[in-house]
Amino acid sequence: MTIGILGGGQLGYMLALAGYPLGLHFRFLDPSPEAPVGRIAQRVTAEYTDHSALEKFSNGLELVTYEFENVPVGAARFLAQRVPVYPPPAALEAAQDRLAEKGLFQKLGISTTEFLPISKPSEFAAAVDKLGLPAVLKTSRMGYDGKGQWILHTAEHVAKAKPELPPVKLILERFVPFTRELSVLAVRSRTGETAFYPLVENHHRGGILRLSLAPAPRLEASIQRAAEDVARRVLESMKYAGVLVIEFFEYEGRLLANEMAPRVHNSGHWTIEGAITSQFENHLRAVLGLPLGSTAAAGHCAMVNLIGDLPESAEVLAVPDAHLHLYGKVARPGRKLGHVTLRAASPERLALRLSELPAFFHRPDFCLDAALAHSASARL
Ligand code: AMP
Repeated sequence: MTIGILGGGQLGYMLALAGYPLGLHFRFLDPSPEAPVGRIAQRVTAEYTDHSALEKFSNGLELVTYEFENVPVGAARFLAQRVPVYPPPAALEAAQDRLAEKGLFQKLGISTTEFLPISKPSEFAAAVDKLGLPAVLKTSRMGYDGKGQWILHTAEHVAKAKPELPPVKLILERFVPFTRELSVLAVRSRTGETAFYPLVENHHRGGILRLSLAPAPRLEASIQRAAEDVARRVLESMKYAGVLVIEFFEYEGRLLANEMAPRVHNSGHWTIEGAITSQFENHLRAVLGLPLGSTAAAGHCAMVNLIGDLPESAEVLAVPDAHLHLYGKVARPGRKLGHVTLRAASPERLALRLSELPAFFHRPDFCLDAALAHSASARL
């Protein structure tokens, strides 16, 4: 049985690794001849808009899924006429456009940050006046890892941004002085079965995820329930199949939905070693209509992204409980090249392991202080 995957980056790579024990085969489509999955699976190098390549790609596939959320919706719809495509292309469409995404959240009664659409640069000043400062300006489409995003604290920031506004749809959001960022990994099978992982606490620098702690420290049952309720509404509204991730700001004891990803997610990498069933395996089970695996955590995890450069593998692996994942990508500044997951039986042990990581990790951008502070308080 061969599964087609649109996008050939590290998420696809880890999906395939999770699928091989289930006897699955994989075929990837990616425009880049450098896509990491080429090392481990069939890879078709073609543009997502190339219909004859899509046609050929789909031949003999059981179903198609995606690991990249900016796959053109047209490609997903074209394929859906030939083979089942999960998650539904409508989820892709909503997640690709921040305004459509916020619209979906509002329609489903889900709290989000306050925002205003800016459809042309001349609307910018009025939107800033109305919403107030500080605010975050984002491109409505094609923004990820902090790209296409400006934080506006003062009138000077606004004046500086004004002549530089790209001629695309923008969204202005109120800046939320959140207590922390959390994400929920939810999964719904084609059969309608759902499951939810414990919430994850995420630390970003420059808009890029650096560190995830799972289960989130000081996780109250009411917050977990609230996140599951939000995710369930989205899943059911579109008869979703696969893993869905929703990112939240925790603010004044409430959750505000920031964005969603209709795919496996970086804040779920800890599940490979830290949960009974990984997000990758559960995504595959869900799209195939197989029973879902347990989403329970198997210890306390810290997942650290390796961005731009890599440590010595031997130094990482010398730390007990450390698991290293390298994606086989060429190093470039700002690029996610791999991750390390530390899993321990107790918060105290996790703190000890974090402190044992080599000097490479003790730079501020790894956010280890945040992890150590939580772990040291032994209330994970
Ligand atoms: P996003 O691309 O929307 O996930 O934004 C990337 C990161 O920027 C988030 O994870 C937050 O750390 C920060 N951020 C985005 N929007 C806001 C906001 N409205 N208020 C405060 N911080 C934000």
